[in-house]
Amino acid sequence: MQNEFDVAIVGLGPVGALLANCLGTCGISTVALDRESAAYHLPRAVTFDDEIMRLFQILGLIDEILTITEIGSAALFVDAEGETLVHWDRPMTPTSNGWCPNYRFHQPALETVLRDSLRRFECVEQRWNCNVTALEQDDNGVSLTCDRPGGRETIRAAYVVGCDGGRSFTRSQIGSGLLDLGFHEEWLITDLLLPEPEADPDRHTYHYCGTARMGSKVFVGSHRKRWELRLNPEDDRATICEPDTVWRILEPWITPAEAELERATVYTFHSMIAERWRNGRLLIAGDAAHQTPPFMGQGMCAGLRDAANLGWKLARVINGSSPDTLLDTYQSERFDHVQAYIDLTINLGRLINATANSVTRGNVTDAGGGPQTMSQLKPSLGPGLTAGNSDLRGQLCPQFDPDGDEAAGYRFTLFSTAPLPDDLSAAFAAEGCVVSTSDAARNWLQEAGVAAVLVRPDRAILGTAAAQEIATLLPSAWTMAGS
Ligand SMILES: Cc1cc2nc3c(=O)[nH]c(=O)nc-3n(C[C@H](O)[C@H](O)[C@H](O)COP(=O)(O)OP(=O)(O)OC[C@H]3O[C@@H](n4cnc5c(N)ncnc54)[C@H](O)[C@@H]3O)c2cc1C
Repeated sequence: MQNEFDVAIVGLGPVGALLANCLGTCGISTVALDRESAAYHLPRAVTFDDEIMRLFQILGLIDEILTITEIGSAALFVDAEGETLVHWDRPMTPTSNGWCPNYRFHQPALETVLRDSLRRFECVEQRWNCNVTALEQDDNGVSLTCDRPGGRETIRAAYVVGCDGGRSFTRSQIGSGLLDLGFHEEWLITDLLLPEPEADPDRHTYHYCGTARMGSKVFVGSHRKRWELRLNPEDDRATICEPDTVWRILEPWITPAEAELERATVYTFHSMIAERWRNGRLLIAGDAAHQTPPFMGQGMCAGLRDAANLGWKLARVINGSSPDTLLDTYQSERFDHVQAYIDLTINLGRLINATANSVTRGNVTDAGGGPQTMSQLKPSLGPGLTAGNSDLRGQLCPQFDPDGDEAAGYRFTLFSTAPLPDDLSAAFAAEGCVVSTSDAARNWLQEAGVAAVLVRPDRAILGTAAAQEIATLLPSAWTMAGS
C-alpha cells in the first residue's frame, strides 16, 4: 500500500472532500483520511449560495449537483406580531456568478457526490476507519500516525490539511488559540420527512424573532422540512429531543399526521475563528478553522471557499511553481472574509433573540419605515497575493459566459480585450493559464477601464492591467502579503 503522498487531508467531511477534488484536479497525490467507517448520515447544512454552485461547476461536478439541489428563495425575519423586520431578498435568477443566490440540499447526498467524484482521480485515495492520533513535522514532511482497526500505520506527506471539524486534532497540533466572537447558544434541530414531495413548496425561510419560541422554519427542498429552534432556559435538556416533546413544540406548524420525524438533536452553535491556520507543513480548513451559527447558511460555504483558496496554492508549492510562502496568503486572504460572514450572522442571531431590533452591519438598507432589506454579502479577500493593478483584487470575477467556468476549470484564466502577442500568450500558457477574449469579457474589461484581468482558479481576481502592462500579471511579477 502506498504510504507517501504530497498531501494528507485529515477528515472527509464536505471540506476535506472538496479539497481532495481541487488537489485531484491539479494532479497532486493525495490521501484523505477519516476516522469513521462512513460519512455522517444526518444533515447539518441545508443551504449554499451561488459562489459555491460556481465552485462545483469549476470542478466538473455540476451535473451531479443539479440533481440533488432545489432553488431557495428569500429569508424573512418576522417579529411576534408577524411584521417583517428584515427581508433578505434572494431572487430565483442567476447572479454575476452564473447561478441563483440560494440552493437547498440534503448534506449526506452532497457529501456522496463530493466523495464519489474522487474516483475520477488516480492520484487521490480515500481511507476510512483511519483515526489520526499524531502529527510530527520535520524539514521534509509530516509523519501521520493513524489508528486503524487492524493496527497502527504511519503515512508520510509533504503537507497535512486538517479538515477535521470543530474539535480539530490538527488545530491542536498547530497550537492555535481560538478567537471567540461571543455567540454560543443551544438550538433544537428537527428534520422531518414528508410522505410525498410537495408539488409547489414555499421556498422562503422564516426566522421568528422575539417570539415565545424563537427560531427558524427552513426550506430544505420538497421532500423534507426543518425547524431550528432556540432552547429556552426552562426547557428540560434531558427530554427535549423525545418525539412527544418535539411534536408538542412543532404543534403550531405541523403534526405527526403530516410528516415523519427523521431526527431531533441539540447543537450548540458557536462563533469562533482559529488564530493560526498554518504552522509549517500543517494547515487547517473548514470548521477546524472557523465556526458560525447557521442563520446565513454559511458555515460549510466558508469551508468550501477555504478549500478552493488552498488547493491551487498547495499544488503550485508542491510543483515548485511558487515558494512555500504562498501558503501564508491562505489565512490572510480568508480570515477577514469569514469574519465578515460571522459578524453579520451574529447580528442576525441577535435580531432573532430580540436583543436587537435591526441589522446594523452588512449589505443592509433601511426602506424608510418598512422592513430593512438585505442582499448577499460579497466581501473581498483579505491581504494576500497581488499582481498588476490591485483595485479589483480579491473580488470575485463575474462568470462572463454561461459555460465559461466549466471550460476553464480550476485553472487561471487571463481575459483580455484583444489577442495577446504570441510570446506573451505562450508565457501564460506555460503557467497552465487559459487565455480568453470573449465579447462579454471585453465589455466588462472596457467598463472597468483595463485591458486584461487575471482570474485565479477560485475565480477571485488576482489583478488587472493596461495593454502595455499585461506581463505584470505573470507569476514572476506576483507579490505576496501573507501573515
Ligand atoms: C444545524 C446546523 C445547520 C447548518 N446549516 C448550514 C447551512 O445551511 N449551510 C452551511 O454552509 N453550513 C451549515 N452548517 C455548518 C456545516 O454543517 C459545517 O460547517 C460543515 O459540515 C463543516 O464541514 P467540515 O468538513 O469542515 O467538518 P465536518 O463535516 O465536521 O467533518 C470533519 C470530519 O473529520 C473527521 N475527523 C475528525 N477528527 C479526525 C481524526 N483525528 N482523524 C481522522 N478523521 C477525523 C470526522 O470524522 C469528520 O468526518 C450547519 C451546521 C449545523 C450544526
